[in-house]
Amino acid sequence: RYKEKWATTLPRVPATQQALQLFDMNYGMQFGPLWPSARVSLLSEPKYGALVNSFSRVHDVVHDLQDLRAADFVYAAQNGPAGGQGPAPLSPNIQCYTFPKGDISRFPPARPDTVGILGYYLMDAASLLPVLALNVQPGHLVLDLCAAPGGKTLALLQTGCCRHLTAKDISVSRIKRLHGILHSYLPKAARNNVSVSVEDGRNWEQVERDVFDRVLVDVPCTTDRHSVMEHDNNLFTRVRKKEREQLPMLQMQLLVAGILAAKPGGEVVYSTCTLSQLQNEYIVESAIKVAETQFSIGVHVEDLSCFRRLFQDTFSFYAECRVGELVLPHLTANFGPTYFCKLRRAQ
Ligand code: SAM
Repeated sequence: RYKEKWATTLPRVPATQQALQLFDMNYGMQFGPLWPSARVSLLSEPKYGALVNSFSRVHDVVHDLQDLRAADFVYAAQNGPAGGQGPAPLSPNIQCYTFPKGDISRFPPARPDTVGILGYYLMDAASLLPVLALNVQPGHLVLDLCAAPGGKTLALLQTGCCRHLTAKDISVSRIKRLHGILHSYLPKAARNNVSVSVEDGRNWEQVERDVFDRVLVDVPCTTDRHSVMEHDNNLFTRVRKKEREQLPMLQMQLLVAGILAAKPGGEVVYSTCTLSQLQNEYIVESAIKVAETQFSIGVHVEDLSCFRRLFQDTFSFYAECRVGELVLPHLTANFGPTYFCKLRRAQ
């Protein structure tokens, strides 16, 4: 009998194209008229922020950044008209410079100072929002459950508030990159209160329970911007279909592990860099149910809508999330996507 061999002989759709087709279907429905401009932004050059390294010669670094006509968006938010309604519950001491909305200038690579410490770290400025939302305060024990390659770990350390920071990640190669970042940005003394380990964050037994004041759960996701632009390490290749389908379960398990690791009254921030409702709000809602039904732990969703008001001059926010906040990429402010939601564990 003649057997069709279409699966192997059909021309392969590149993974980036495959990602875009799926996003068109899902996000077209999810965001309606907002999708076309988010789509074109995802396909365009992203914007960066320069996270100032407080362990370097800050004065010189800030001077150089101001010379480029960049401004500290965190300071501007807190001291501009939108910040006038009392202090916002933000992690302190974080400075990140960005170019104004509509300005697509780029930062030059950071230079080492006389002792070899780099002055700033270039990152998607929207990925600082989960760290700011975590509201780390002096003396806190902090867990970064999916830490590598370490941009947010570095930002958490800039607060100068962590009594101890525990950074875990399942990937050996990415943990190596995290070590590299810590060595390039921190003097030895500052590295002493950070412990880094290769671990599966889902292992309830290995994760210390009821311990941490603050937990960041920055999960693996479909990394939408990467998936439509880069062929290397693309999750939308055929061979990674299963991995992709299993993502929501992995995300939910990691968030539940984060909730268990927080002490009663402790706070957890869940974050992703996807627009997918299935990987964002739906995961938060499912993890809350699991924490309540399987572990009898009450979890409260904190209101972060003040972020929309505070940071409206820098980012373009989507106002319709059921829980949490979402930065939508926009051509005038091409940051994100970044989703973040803050949970407080009941006492
Ligand atoms: N927070 C990082 C940063 O700011 O640089 C980015 C984290 S990235 C979005 C997600 C990370 O989760 C990846 O480094 C991946 O290796 C890690 N990961 C995936 N599965 C994991 C698991 N079961 N336990 C811990 N980490 C995991």
